[in-house]
Amino acid sequence: MFSRSFLAVAALSLSVAAAPAHADTACRFASEPRVLMEEGGPNADGSKLLQLWDVPDHPVLWSATAPESGGYRRFRDELAERKIETGPVRLLERSPTPNNRIVIRHADDWIGPANCLEMLMFGHQHGRLNTFENPSEFASIILRSPDRERLRVYYYTINHDGIGRMDPIVEPALADRQAGWEVLIALHSHVFHPGQPKIDGILAPSGPDADFHARFHAQSGVREARITNGVHTVRMPASSFDGFQRAADGNEVGSSSG
Ligand SMILES: [Zn+2]
Repeated sequence: MFSRSFLAVAALSLSVAAAPAHADTACRFASEPRVLMEEGGPNADGSKLLQLWDVPDHPVLWSATAPESGGYRRFRDELAERKIETGPVRLLERSPTPNNRIVIRHADDWIGPANCLEMLMFGHQHGRLNTFENPSEFASIILRSPDRERLRVYYYTINHDGIGRMDPIVEPALADRQAGWEVLIALHSHVFHPGQPKIDGILAPSGPDADFHARFHAQSGVREARITNGVHTVRMPASSFDGFQRAADGNEVGSSSG
């Protein structure tokens, strides 16, 4: 009796998940991005892109609803085909650096499924350069408008396995802050590198990442730093930034160590 009703509920939720999402609740950006800087072809190694989406702050963007098509769908299909390990704590335990051990201790509070906004951006980068064949990262800064109605989502990549100097994305975000926007999140990606435990989808800050987070917080009051591998995301509150081991590297994130 119990198991039959449980199965009925499970079947119902499966059919709900499989139904096409209503337009209002589909995971997508409500408008095209505005390109602020672009160098080189989108699919070439080393090409740069700085752009922003200016969109209504819709709850779906913060939900675990996945994009139905595009680069993110292809990323998940390929992830499954390649049978890649995605357990976030298992990945961290393979490389127990001091920073990785801090995240392991807080994993229950800090690590969760990637949200729609994070998946959209991860898919965008996977659509530019296949992250399995040509590992590359993106960085984002997410702000909320003074009237709290809109989000401004900066997105920056150099089509490289790291971001390098963050000034191109930090400067416009700080100008927005002067104009009254609230700096919510500094996000970047760490992609999967099967067989390379030190950099395999690690959801923890490298020394340069930790240094950037602490300094950007001092400049902007950013509330949270996040790192996503496209499947899971670690969400570190600003109060945790000083506990991480920092390696001063001149306003950079995601150098070769991730
Ligand atoms: Zn990094």
